Amino acid sequence: MSTKILISGATGRMGQALVRLIAEHRELDLLGGIDRERKAGADAEAFGFRTIETAESCAELLKQTAVVIDFSAAEGLQNLLAARGAEFRGRALIVGTTGLLPEALGRLDEIAQHSPVLLAANFSIGVNLLLGLVGAAARVLKAESFDVEIVEAHHKRKVDAPSGTALALGQSVAQGRGIPLDSVRRDSRSGNTGLRPSGEIGFHALRGGDVVGEHTVNFIGGRERIEITHKAQDRALFAEGALMAAQWIVGKPPGMYTMSQVLGLDYLTSGK
Ligand code: NAD
Repeated sequence: MSTKILISGATGRMGQALVRLIAEHRELDLLGGIDRERKAGADAEAFGFRTIETAESCAELLKQTAVVIDFSAAEGLQNLLAARGAEFRGRALIVGTTGLLPEALGRLDEIAQHSPVLLAANFSIGVNLLLGLVGAAARVLKAESFDVEIVEAHHKRKVDAPSGTALALGQSVAQGRGIPLDSVRRDSRSGNTGLRPSGEIGFHALRGGDVVGEHTVNFIGGRERIEITHKAQDRALFAEGALMAAQWIVGKPPGMYTMSQVLGLDYLTSGK
């Protein structure tokens, strides 16, 4: 039986990358899309959909869906969860949207009480491997001797900074060092910044052109420097990971899942 999929953020770049990939999988059935405006007939078909609904008009479509994949915007997801949160019962939810506010994160936790939910700042296999490697490095390279600075670059249309992936990498470093990220996070520097406190984790964002996504975690010591870098070359990579997650999560019990579980990388991220 085919897996019935609904894409939120249907006409966006990630939504469209998903449409192209789903067309290559006979076991996946693209039921429809959700976006800012309703589209039907030729208008929907131009984006590869039978129909595109809004958060307010998607109730019928949602009932027939096995898994919703969301790559929209923080506000778009928030609207969808506010309008339809209870109706996710019995279906799975994959969220790739970044820059989510605490209210949306709270609603996702509520949905995870009755449905399987997976939220990932980055769906690439390489980045998820990087999260584990960075955590392992942070356990060895102690805060007193190695300063951590995370540099990311993205296309100029990205609206949130630092990227969700940069924050996830910072989280891995903080976890490896056994401290909460919020207590050591420092977003860029300007003006009279004073001396750099040891243990601080710095974040720096470059924006320009069509850069798909690049992240470097620098561990800067007195006598040596380690740089761990990932460069995404094609956003189909994220669509591929999201579809892998969608196929994996259908039928799982309610709860909050991670990409690390999908990829079997838990042994690395847990540090055991
Ligand atoms: P995009 O701007 O090309 O597309 C966003 C889509 O969402 C558009 O179709 C837009 O109409 C729709 N949308 C925006 N606001 C909405 C609202 N209020 N209601 C309904 N629909 C709304 O963006 P993109 O490059 O496709 O990225 C989408 C999201 O996915 C971003 O948050 C981005 O950071 C994130 N992203 C995550 C990953 C990952 O691996 N987790 C990878 C790439 C992008």
